[in-house]
Amino acid sequence: ALRGDLEGADLDKYVEERVLTTTLDKALNWARGNALFPATFGLACCAIEMMSVVGARVDIARFGAEAFRASPRQADLLILSGRISIKMAPIVRRIYDQMLEPKWAIAMGACSSSMGVFNNYAIVPADKFMPVDVHVPGCPPRPEALMHGILKLRQMIQDDPAMGWRDRYEARGTEEIVGD
Ligand code: SF4
Repeated sequence: ALRGDLEGADLDKYVEERVLTTTLDKALNWARGNALFPATFGLACCAIEMMSVVGARVDIARFGAEAFRASPRQADLLILSGRISIKMAPIVRRIYDQMLEPKWAIAMGACSSSMGVFNNYAIVPADKFMPVDVHVPGCPPRPEALMHGILKLRQMIQDDPAMGWRDRYEARGTEEIVGD
């Protein structure tokens, strides 16, 4: 039916679906993108650069992402700040699994994305055992680069209506869901 033909409950349903819920979702996504809580978790040398994003020079507080949380239950962003050994991977994955949805992950530096200079039998790229939303290149990436990655993620959160990581991966057409 055309919009002008709708009446009563049909009209209410039409309005709720198109006006109320989309506006609320947009507001929620805007708030989520501007209030990220990274987990307090450093993996290797990249973690030094990660720590400096809360300092005065980069001051990630400008974008609401400076409050690192010591419990995965209170965090919604996992920054993989360094190389991940095969022994460490199950622990990293457990931390990610303990975080509540919606949650996101950034692979910071060459090591966590592609093993970097430690390209050997003991190291594993993050994509092999957990979903990653943003990759920040560099060895190490400068704090500004990490901030750029966080801003990219903020844009993604505000644009992407699929909030659970499984939904996001399916929406992107990723055939294999990591560790489903
Ligand atoms: Fe260290 Fe470079 Fe690997 Fe970061 S990318 S953990 S700085 S070796």
